Amino acid sequence: MALGTASTRTDRARTVRDLLASGKRSYSFEFAAPKTEKGERTLWNAIRRIEAVAPTFVSVTYGAGGTSRDGTVRATERIATDTTLTPVAHLTAVNHSTAELRNVIGQYADAGIRNMLALRGDPPGDPMGEWIKHPDGVVYAADLVRLIKESGDFCVGVAAFPEMHPRSTDWDTDIRHFVDKCRAGADFAITQMFFYPEDYLRLRDRVHAAGCPTPIIPEIMPVTNVRQIERFAQLSNAAFPPELAARILAVKDDPAAVRSIGIEYATDLCARLMAEDVPGLHFITLNHSTATLEIYENLGLHQRP
Ligand code: FAD
Repeated sequence: MALGTASTRTDRARTVRDLLASGKRSYSFEFAAPKTEKGERTLWNAIRRIEAVAPTFVSVTYGAGGTSRDGTVRATERIATDTTLTPVAHLTAVNHSTAELRNVIGQYADAGIRNMLALRGDPPGDPMGEWIKHPDGVVYAADLVRLIKESGDFCVGVAAFPEMHPRSTDWDTDIRHFVDKCRAGADFAITQMFFYPEDYLRLRDRVHAAGCPTPIIPEIMPVTNVRQIERFAQLSNAAFPPELAARILAVKDDPAAVRSIGIEYATDLCARLMAEDVPGLHFITLNHSTATLEIYENLGLHQRP
């Protein structure tokens, strides 16, 4: 075991719900499920570097299917047992029967994990393709929230979409379904990545206006290379700021300059959100810790007590 067992036990006992209720702002980092042994080594290098800044929690995405799902469960369990970090375990409903979902929840529980992120997931291949329910599975994230809550004393997070979920037809319905997830028992939410603070603030206002107090943590994704401009917009449906794209494309042959603009933009976005009293910041690392740690340092968070 790399770091003290005693502190690991203490960390495992914490829930994101309690940390947020204490009034402290949450700082967290998300990793992607490793697909190869090399990928696993890269992931663990990043995890160890992030561990040094003692974030509130970390999470590993749940793969669309196959072996990457085992990789998610293995990595999340190892975070719980071999590090001082608090893991939030992602779980999706795609292609799983209720019995299989219960089995994964049980594996997480056996590793001492108490925080989970309940997601519907997208169909493998085309995220906007037809969502086919497993004959013995669940359909929406709200059903998964209920299943996890029935399975034990878990703190459960859900996804939120500052630019509306791409399958939703209108804002009223989107917010109603989000609030349903919260009423099913969700304790907190993490957003999809976005680039304009106003999108997050509008979502927060709409949810609060619907009488739902669930804390919504904004997700931050720094752009560090030109290819990501198109990729992020495709993945997240997020509107990519044309002025940021223009600044990046003007220096496209200078990777260091591209990275520096992306980090500056993300740092500014975080600062504006913190000024709006957000409950936390959730950074996507893509398993490379350097850019997100730079933003963390720019915001002066290395010095936090
Ligand atoms: P839901 O809340 O079920 O909503 C999906 C759609 O159905 C919405 O349009 C909603 O309005 C609608 N809806 C909900 N309830 C009803 C109802 N009763 N009747 C009719 N319509 C309804 N994907 C992965 O595969 N692995 C991951 O690890 C992962 N991590 C993520 C982490 C974060 C922070 C975020 C924001 C997303 C993540 N995703 C992940 C992607 C996510 O699975 C997809 O965006 C998925 O399409 C949405 O899931 P959801 O949990 O919000 O679904």
